[in-house]
Amino acid sequence: MTNKTVISHARVVVIGGGIAGCSTLYHLTREGWTDVVLLERDELTSGSTWHAAAQVTQFGGNQTMIALKRHSIDLYRELAADAENPISYHITGGMRLAHTPNQVDTYRHFIGMAAGMGVEMEFIDAAEVGRRHPLISTEGLLGAWWDPLDGDIDPAGVTFALARKARETGAEVYRFNPVQSITRKANGEFIVHSKHGDITCEKVVNATGYRVNEVGNMLGVSHPVTSMEHMYFLTDTMPELEALDFRVPVIRDPGDDFYSRQEKNGLLVGVYEQGCQTFGMDGIDPDFTQALCPSDLDRCLDNMEHIFERLPALTEAGIHTVINGPITYTIDGAPLIGPIPGIENAYCAIGLRAGIGESGGHGKLLAEMIVHGECEWDAWFLDPRRFTQYANTEHTCLKAIEDYQNEFHYHLPHEHRPAARLARTTPLYPVLEQLNCAWGVVNGWERALFFKPDAGFVDEHSFRFTPTKAVVAKEIEHLQQQVGVMEVSGFNRYEISGDCAEEFLDMMICGRLPREIGKLSLCYLLTEKGNVLSEATLVKRGENRYWWGSAAAAEWHDRDWLNRFKPDSVTITEMADSHTILVVAGPKSRDLLQSVSPRCDWSKDAFPWLQCRQMFIGHAEVTAMSVSFSGELAYELHVPNEQLYLVWQILNQAGKAFGLGYFGLYATESMRLEKGYLHWKADLIYEHNPFEARLDRFVNLDKPDFIGKQALLEQLERGPRKLLVSLTVDCDIASAHGGDPVFAGEQQVGSVTSAGYGHRVQKNIAYAYVNPDMAKIGTGLQLEILGDKYAAVVVEPTLYDPANQRVRA
Ligand SMILES: Cc1cc2nc3c(=O)[nH]c(=O)nc-3n(C[C@H](O)[C@H](O)[C@H](O)COP(=O)(O)OP(=O)(O)OC[C@H]3O[C@@H](n4cnc5c(N)ncnc54)[C@H](O)[C@@H]3O)c2cc1C
Repeated sequence: MTNKTVISHARVVVIGGGIAGCSTLYHLTREGWTDVVLLERDELTSGSTWHAAAQVTQFGGNQTMIALKRHSIDLYRELAADAENPISYHITGGMRLAHTPNQVDTYRHFIGMAAGMGVEMEFIDAAEVGRRHPLISTEGLLGAWWDPLDGDIDPAGVTFALARKARETGAEVYRFNPVQSITRKANGEFIVHSKHGDITCEKVVNATGYRVNEVGNMLGVSHPVTSMEHMYFLTDTMPELEALDFRVPVIRDPGDDFYSRQEKNGLLVGVYEQGCQTFGMDGIDPDFTQALCPSDLDRCLDNMEHIFERLPALTEAGIHTVINGPITYTIDGAPLIGPIPGIENAYCAIGLRAGIGESGGHGKLLAEMIVHGECEWDAWFLDPRRFTQYANTEHTCLKAIEDYQNEFHYHLPHEHRPAARLARTTPLYPVLEQLNCAWGVVNGWERALFFKPDAGFVDEHSFRFTPTKAVVAKEIEHLQQQVGVMEVSGFNRYEISGDCAEEFLDMMICGRLPREIGKLSLCYLLTEKGNVLSEATLVKRGENRYWWGSAAAAEWHDRDWLNRFKPDSVTITEMADSHTILVVAGPKSRDLLQSVSPRCDWSKDAFPWLQCRQMFIGHAEVTAMSVSFSGELAYELHVPNEQLYLVWQILNQAGKAFGLGYFGLYATESMRLEKGYLHWKADLIYEHNPFEARLDRFVNLDKPDFIGKQALLEQLERGPRKLLVSLTVDCDIASAHGGDPVFAGEQQVGSVTSAGYGHRVQKNIAYAYVNPDMAKIGTGLQLEILGDKYAAVVVEPTLYDPANQRVRA
């Protein structure tokens, strides 16, 4: 419909008629919400969608992404098969080329992960690469990852089909009708003001592609999305292709940074050039619609030389068209699909750089979230709340450029790339740097990973064990025997206070709140469907005054969830930026702390396990908690940032007499696996309830009510879907990685959530969700790591000091 006065009310208004908006609209109708509207400023597809190279693949860096992509393919096949409105869709197969052993490992890991989702892919050798793509030179290749369902689709055809199907069930689509502003009523409803009228709605979705922040501004937010120019060229007819009786498969090449597919009897070749250009950083011409940027193939000359070597037939082919269009990037390469941080009932589907292939799945994800509050799969890696205040325009731009330049270079485990670093640091950054700290990034914060034995030591990133393993072993051995200190930057901390704070928190968690002042407890929050949502350490600091501590990455996630239920009388004060934790761990930790704290009593009787006290470290006052993630006697010192350096200096001076050493995140990760402690958004995801996650002791079903209780009771009647187990694995070359499949014989029975080497118990440990009948201690299984199966056995969850004698020492 064009130029028509819009309806006045709808349940959801989706803004943007590219593939993301149309897929969201379609999936809302599939979830039964037909009172929904899409507003498009121009013609459908007139943003990035119309000119996409439109490759559609099953590739995904984690299981959820693979499942989402697979959903796209199944949906597109169904739409394309509609006899009345067929869509041009070629499934040719496709390959990602491997030039290095690390790429081979990466692909083997991804292939194993896909197998765990029932999605078949394979690794093929270089000779097979040549057989499947007769135009390719296999010089220097180690092989390729083959996806049998890779291909390309008509991007406009599929987008219009989604819109048409949505309209058939009652959804409204208004084209040539830009949204001009958005306001909010006192009752929380939005009024979307468009050129042809206002629509009042419960929920809005921003799906406006490279104009994301024009609509973001209308909602008062700036989304961490940057647009990049991206080019592909189309060749004239090539006799080599004409001679074939099949379409050549898609190629994606990290060596020469290009992709290629067949278009008619020529090739389409897209390039990721190092000298890339951002788009629209200073605003976008309102008339830029169904438009392209000026072509500039000269930028791609460095790549072209290599591309022509890889596809020699190109040297004889004429180029008839160059397409240069805007494409959106985020900070980590994955789009933002889900709730907009800080604005209840506002959602987005933005930052899609491979939106044609992905949008089928993303539309499903977003529609399920909107309608049901959560979706079939936990998709935290797409959640807009994963980036917080540090993710400003300039930060995003630097990361987007870096990501574009590394398009097919997938991150290796623990790899943190250099662009836009130092976004969040504590006063200790330069001090730890002097100690040869190797840094990683958590929610923008620089966080110590480990301490290099010398400045020249390089942390080799690999899916296999590297020399860093021995360095971490030494850090652990030292703190196990003496004492070590670690800085935990950016730990998420709120103070929650006010009348009813206790009552409010009691309703939020499924277990017991600490009732006595100074006591702390580990608590879990559930979704309304009874699944695990969040983990928090709660400390009772006074009457109706609690401290909340959770993962650094949970900062905006937890804030928005708490705010959704919080009564007006309760105040939430954010403290992640004002305080930093120093963890002091090891058998001598108490003696060290006592030595710098003469008038405070650190003895076991005065300050037992799981308590919180105000203490002095020299002349600095800190909040100390006797809690341990390492399994050793340990204390967390919560230090105001202005006194962090002071406390560090005092501990280090006094520490000389106690053999104080340093440790980082790698050591902590190894130790928590030995203790059976779980990781939020790896082991703790909302695809499982707390009993499936083996958190039985943290659930109190006798409480009159808590969020998710009724749904949890219903789940319990149905029995567990999967159960979390600890496995030890008989593999010397590598740890398992998240997503690796677990087998019982030939049958796939589960997949790994997190894994690593346990240095104190000298075991290769993995946590996995498996079929309930495979969860008994002693069950023999196999785990696939980098393409090979290794024997594994289900073991007790706590392998190190199960009686907790060391933490209570
Ligand atoms: C050269 C190139 C090649 C590509 N190749 C591939 C590929 O091979 N495979 C792949 O998966 N992806 C590819 N992409 C990426 C893909 O095109 C995008 O990810 C996808 O089209 C994004 O869809 P979208 O719906 O998010 O955004 P868009 O298609 O940009 O849609 C956003 C819509 O919002 C509308 N809008 C904006 N502001 C308003 C407003 N105020 N009111 C109402 N409407 C508004 C716009 O008019 C537009 O129609 C390629 C991109 C480029 C540039």
